[in-house]
Amino acid sequence: MREFAFELRLCGWLEDREEGVVARQLGTSVEGRGNRILDVLLVRPGPEFDARTRLPPGEIPLAAIESDAGVGEWTPVTDAVPGPPERARRVAERAADVGYLELERKGGEAVVRRVARYPGEWFGDLVGVENKPDLGRPGDLAFQLRHDVALGLLDEVWLATESYVTGAHLNRIPDAVGVARVDADALAAGGEDAEEAVEVVREATPLDTAGAGVEVLDERPTETAIETVDGAAKARARRRLAERAYGKGWRTYGFPDCAEVERAASGSASALPYCAWKDRLVDAASECGPDCPGHDASETQHPDLDAERAAATPWNPTPAVRTRTQSRLDRWTE
Ligand code: SF4
Repeated sequence: MREFAFELRLCGWLEDREEGVVARQLGTSVEGRGNRILDVLLVRPGPEFDARTRLPPGEIPLAAIESDAGVGEWTPVTDAVPGPPERARRVAERAADVGYLELERKGGEAVVRRVARYPGEWFGDLVGVENKPDLGRPGDLAFQLRHDVALGLLDEVWLATESYVTGAHLNRIPDAVGVARVDADALAAGGEDAEEAVEVVREATPLDTAGAGVEVLDERPTETAIETVDGAAKARARRRLAERAYGKGWRTYGFPDCAEVERAASGSASALPYCAWKDRLVDAASECGPDCPGHDASETQHPDLDAERAAATPWNPTPAVRTRTQSRLDRWTE
């Protein structure tokens, strides 16, 4: 099975069985130069998870979370957000667009306040999954897993594959990485078949997320570029990652305007993009369009993927928090 279809079906399977948030295709580089994109992330709920579902549904910027903006009390933007005034203003506008900060002009000054306290303990463990349906074509797999284990940003790292896993395969990946063999067709079939679809070949070993880690930025035959990352930087990166996952989820695929596309089910997910012409799930962003020989231009009824996510998970697209639709200061007059 192709990696895209494998990934969507695995996300649906996880969502049906795990509490918290499932998301896909998230950057996990702390220093921002490593370009590591994780396939799937499971964010386990922390004790304040419910409080997060009552806040705006999009990613709340880290700078807004860490700001000195109070609840119910207006603070000048430049006092609330450290750094140059232009940056403070950008942060405030972005957080106001999301609906987490209210932004107004009072007495000629831009001021902000939070719509609610931020629940710092809304997420628990972060579990990463790297998908490699065919271990015969590993690509960058070994590098990616070494990166994740050396950095220790995630509590657990797993490899998910359809291949039969040999001792030689296990020897090539770090010992801490858990390995699961997945029968993707059984996932797609759902019901009792899906219960047996994932076999744990090797359990993951929890990583040290609190201590310092090493980020592998680049690996070449003669040299490896690394950066040491302390525990505080990792803690901030974990929060940013959890927020991204909450805002993004895993239903980030599109439906093409083509008569061949249909909605396929997988567990409780009912709207995966299935192409009748190719007889498989398709990634519209990279596979669909007039260049495809099977393309048959047609106006597609695009599914409401946010509504499906809201029905299947605690994620709440319409929480009862005060939000302003106009957040840019230059649109306002006193
Ligand atoms: S554009 Fe091609 S791949 Fe995409 S749905 Fe149409 S026939 Fe299938």
